[in-house]
Amino acid sequence: MYFRFWGTRGSIPVPGNATIKYGGNTPCIELRTDNNRLIILDAGSGLREFGKHLASTGRDKKIDIFVSHYHWDHIQGIPFFLPLYRKGNEITFYGETSDGKRVEQILSDQMAFNYFPIKIGEMSAHTSFKEIIPDCTYNFDNFKVETFRANHSSPTISFRITEGDKCLVYMTDNELKLKDSIHTSASDILEMNKAMVEFVSGCDYLIHDSMYDETSVIEKKGWGHSCNVTLAYFSILAKVKNIILFHYNPDFTDSKIDEQLNDTLAVFKKEKSSINCIASHEGLSIIF
Ligand SMILES: [Zn+2]
Ligand SMILES: [Zn+2]
Repeated sequence: MYFRFWGTRGSIPVPGNATIKYGGNTPCIELRTDNNRLIILDAGSGLREFGKHLASTGRDKKIDIFVSHYHWDHIQGIPFFLPLYRKGNEITFYGETSDGKRVEQILSDQMAFNYFPIKIGEMSAHTSFKEIIPDCTYNFDNFKVETFRANHSSPTISFRITEGDKCLVYMTDNELKLKDSIHTSASDILEMNKAMVEFVSGCDYLIHDSMYDETSVIEKKGWGHSCNVTLAYFSILAKVKNIILFHYNPDFTDSKIDEQLNDTLAVFKKEKSSINCIASHEGLSIIF
């Protein structure tokens, strides 16, 4: 498997000098299976640059886009995704019915007359829309996608993608539940998040929301995002091999994210854990 980050930021794009290292674009990940099937995880503003790259190579005609949920930061790249404007491309969106609306309706709504000059049905590529639900397994030729209900302010799905003995979990916009505002102990985290621990258990790479630090998480309980220190304990409990910090707070500068990474590494050191921790940044690619 190969994956690359095209957008790592949460909530809203934040271009500028303070976000050069980790990037200011909102969530978008390119994932390729070993036989080069292209899957895109979320369609935030990072999708625009990725679309330019795909259009320049012209190689990928069949593209599957999995949308975790419909907050702006996860869909705002779609109107600017160049492969949608190319005849011959086959693009499938996977998402769940939310607030009584199916995925096609929701994605069309963001391109309604008042928001964008072109309708989704007027784009040249062949588009299709597939409904997905949490707690299900979707089998494709050489890989499978398992789904899980994340803990967020609107219905959100996490994805566990497995190909052979390789496995990646994409779990963003997810609040790890806590008894108190901050983590108390690993056993408390386990007790409150048993199903989540099981869902990510043993994966090679866990890409997870790390929107808050230990201070900001206190006032943001219930907002649907996680603190990097809690995430470190969660990763230990789930015995993941690599944890990747993702969906950064738009107010966090590069140096603040450096601090978050160091604080996370300090937990692994203290707990004598061999988990590898990476802070995602635009352009980061990994093969495993
Ligand atoms: Zn988000
Ligand atoms: Zn969200």
